Amino acid sequence: MSHPIPLVDLKAQYAAIQPEIDGAIARVIANTSFIGGKEVSAFEQAFAEFQGVKRCVGIASGTGAIALVLHALGIGAGDEVITTPHSFIATVEPIEAAGAVSVFVDIDPATFNMDVTQIEAAITPRTKAIMPVHLYGQMARMDVIMDIARRHGLVVIEDAAQAHGAEYLGKRAGQWGDAACFSMYPGKNLGAYGDAGAVCTNDDALADKIAKLRDHGRTSKYAHDIIGFGERLDALQAAILGAKLPHLADWNEARRRIAGEYTELLDGAEGICTPYVDPNGVPVFHIYCVTVSGDRDAIQAALKARGVEAGIHYPLPLHMQPALAHRGYAVGAFPHTEHAANCILSLPIYPEMSLEQVRTVADALRDVVGGRAGA
Ligand SMILES: *Cc1c(COP(=O)(O)O)cnc(C)c1O
Repeated sequence: MSHPIPLVDLKAQYAAIQPEIDGAIARVIANTSFIGGKEVSAFEQAFAEFQGVKRCVGIASGTGAIALVLHALGIGAGDEVITTPHSFIATVEPIEAAGAVSVFVDIDPATFNMDVTQIEAAITPRTKAIMPVHLYGQMARMDVIMDIARRHGLVVIEDAAQAHGAEYLGKRAGQWGDAACFSMYPGKNLGAYGDAGAVCTNDDALADKIAKLRDHGRTSKYAHDIIGFGERLDALQAAILGAKLPHLADWNEARRRIAGEYTELLDGAEGICTPYVDPNGVPVFHIYCVTVSGDRDAIQAALKARGVEAGIHYPLPLHMQPALAHRGYAVGAFPHTEHAANCILSLPIYPEMSLEQVRTVADALRDVVGGRAGA
């Protein structure tokens, strides 16, 4: 076995930009300005520009970003938010924590994103918002979603945790919905060295409200006119993100190149289905997700034995999570989601991956799925 190939390789990225990162960290420590200040505002301005929106508000995490947007938009007890069951738990946690109800619609099996043709049937008098997730770095069909939302008077909150720089019909997350929530968790396309997140929006009043909410609702140091949260992005993370942001376009391009290589190398392989790319969009491949026929868990284990680390995003749909058992969703409620959960496999992808590594992974997957696991 040659060198194992990890799912993501954060060390390779640090090695490529070490002086920039070390410089950013040293600068913050020398200034001892750890909360707020110009590191945070400079990153916010740069990321707003990158997403093509008026405003960005740095938040302590992606989960916090969703929570603050819901709060700022007045979504709470008894309200319903339509979203997808094929996502990370953090999509629905803030909805549930606010006392609102996450209402699921199944995915389109081609894109793994919300099936927009099922949204209208899920709307009730209590529906307040639609929360699409741009899963794996491919944006949901935002033109259709915005049209439905406008016709029914709903707000749209984009979960863009996996979609920094992704486009749909030439527009990025935050340019479509009322707000887009980003995670800068370390493994995301733009990752901090700890927890971090952001809200992007074209709505100045909403941005101002979220900026106040993240910082204890304060108007001055010890004056607070609303009850807020402790959800600030800190200066150290902002400086690191600011050092990384100039590389993000190249990193996303590298991910698209690697995805293209995988798709070409796996073309025609029996039992392996490569990702569908919506021709209206430009994905950023946070995850490169194939579906495999056969015993997926055994395939994942056989890959591991050959030094290839594959992941599963996500093995248990949200409507089947014990945390949501009280909703009483039955098995079979969202068949495309449940089918996906059983046959998806995420292959290693990170911008520094070499073509040789991509070949190694593709060859291993072909062998394993083709029943030549020992080859
Ligand atoms: C990562 C992620 C989140 C949560 O982000 P954190 O920064 O970890 O809080 C939310 N939604 C999706 C789809 C994610 O992938």
